[in-house]
Amino acid sequence: MKSVESSKLTICPSCDLLVDTRPHCRAGNVLVCPRCKHVLARGSRVRFSSQLALALSCLVMVILANTYPLLSFTFLGIPSSANILRGTVLLLEHGYYLVGFSVVIASFLAPIILFCLISYTSFSLSIGWKSPGLATALHFQDDLIHWSMIEVYIVSFLVALVKLIEYADIDLGYGLWCICITLVLSTRLIQRLEPAEYWERYVHIR
Ligand SMILES: [Zn+2]
Repeated sequence: MKSVESSKLTICPSCDLLVDTRPHCRAGNVLVCPRCKHVLARGSRVRFSSQLALALSCLVMVILANTYPLLSFTFLGIPSSANILRGTVLLLEHGYYLVGFSVVIASFLAPIILFCLISYTSFSLSIGWKSPGLATALHFQDDLIHWSMIEVYIVSFLVALVKLIEYADIDLGYGLWCICITLVLSTRLIQRLEPAEYWERYVHIR
């Protein structure tokens, strides 16, 4: 969502209607596009320090989720364990380059870069510091929100688990709990992330 700074106008990302945001902005209010009913902004003020804490927690959790085993299992008497990074290496080794690189981007790179960017922008805005590259970081942050697809992994993992459970003895690993925690925290983080408020704060920093 792009805001026109001086006039408090916002362009609806869904139908491109120009909407005046001035009547809104009080806590508890929700600004809805009058044409397509897309939610443009919520009237709660973002606390950048709590966004920073949430983003850092997500960052730690997503790294653990990718390195700890998702599950361990015994198949034909042979014990084994699996985590996302090892699974990705196996995909690449077997020539599934497109799937392998997609998994690396959507499960690892995109969420990590997104959480780093939110940490950086939230930290800068919380202390009122126009840090180097802050505007670029805000632009990338808005674009990357759509690339973090942790929930897709939970669903596909559960489908695979149901299939696997017929053939092997399964123990759930720490990685799975880390993914679930990342999902809960990142949902909250992105729900509270109002690009318009980040830009508004950015405009007011000297
Ligand atoms: Zn609209």
